[in-house]
Amino acid sequence: MTVKVGVIGTGWIGAEHIRRITASVGGAEVVAATDIDVDRAAGAVEGTGARVLPTGTDVITDPEVEAVVVTSWGPAHAESVLAAIAEGKPVFCEKPLATTAEDARRILDAEAAHGSRLVQVGFMRRFDPGYRQMREAIAEGTIGTPLMAHCVHRNPTVPESYHSEMAAQDTAVHEVDAVRWLLDDEISAVQVLTPRPTARRFEHLRDPQIMLLEMTGGARVDVEVFVNCQYGYEIGCEVVGEEGTIRLPEIPGAVVRSAGWRSTPVLQDWVKRFAAAFDAEFQAWIDEVAAGRPTTGPNAWDGYAAAIVTDALVRSLYSGGVVETGIKERPAFYA
Ligand code: NAP
Repeated sequence: MTVKVGVIGTGWIGAEHIRRITASVGGAEVVAATDIDVDRAAGAVEGTGARVLPTGTDVITDPEVEAVVVTSWGPAHAESVLAAIAEGKPVFCEKPLATTAEDARRILDAEAAHGSRLVQVGFMRRFDPGYRQMREAIAEGTIGTPLMAHCVHRNPTVPESYHSEMAAQDTAVHEVDAVRWLLDDEISAVQVLTPRPTARRFEHLRDPQIMLLEMTGGARVDVEVFVNCQYGYEIGCEVVGEEGTIRLPEIPGAVVRSAGWRSTPVLQDWVKRFAAAFDAEFQAWIDEVAAGRPTTGPNAWDGYAAAIVTDALVRSLYSGGVVETGIKERPAFYA
């Protein structure tokens, strides 16, 4: 069976996922797409045979569309996800699931009312081979009980439209999900520290930020978010346990020896760093949709848990204090 997919939002990652569904993974085809800029949508589906429709609602309700991919900007996600649930269609939503915990809560309620899980959230690190090795080793007890984790998320630069709250909502949201998944625990409290800002930023932006997370079980996590580091894109993660440590492997790069130096290149963006993870993520989602099973990837609860943590991080950014997330136990529906 070929899963017929409709895509909402054909900017950078929407176009990437259309290419991925069309050329890199098997079992699905894009049959419809939309964007606020319909010419952009037309460009993104060129050569695929997909139709360009005027709005997200048209894509979701289109009889040919069996599953929906939401890749519009964050504040528009919740509306599309809720509409897809109302149609009973599986929906893959890029992170964030919603930009507020309240909207994420509405999605949980809608899925519960529907009676089965339909939502997968685009936390693709769970499909990255390095993160998967870490999770397996931690789960097998290789490093003993995890006590701490140190995470780094650096981008070379960000555009002027990137604002201080996005450090949590758009950037650290990946680390938030990754540590919940790696440590198999929820985040109960957070605090944001703001070191001396880099001069190489737009004036309105707090950059870098240090985010301190406390897990329900007592482990502590620090996350450095530095989105104007200039030199490249770098993701780091090390978990420290009672009997050892485990560190995320770096993507191997060819070693250059020249002019008295031995060097390897630094990646410049997330597209190459996580290409294999994105492919694996989509293949798994398509296979499960084709089989008619609820997907086993990150679900709406994971999107909700991330949203309440990023809400708390934003509050701490302004207050400087420790903020409780108020997380409850994962409902059995999302076990
Ligand atoms: P982008 O280049 O700005 O693309 C978003 C596109 O959606 C734009 O063309 C935008 O049009 C369109 N759009 C916005 N609201 C819409 C709506 N209601 N209906 C139809 N189209 C709409 O952004 P992006 O970098 O692709 O990011 C998109 C999403 O993916 C974001 O949530 C982002 O956080 C996420 N993302 C995830 C990863 C990851 O690592 N998993 C990486 C990158 C991005 P206008 O520009 O005209 O508003």
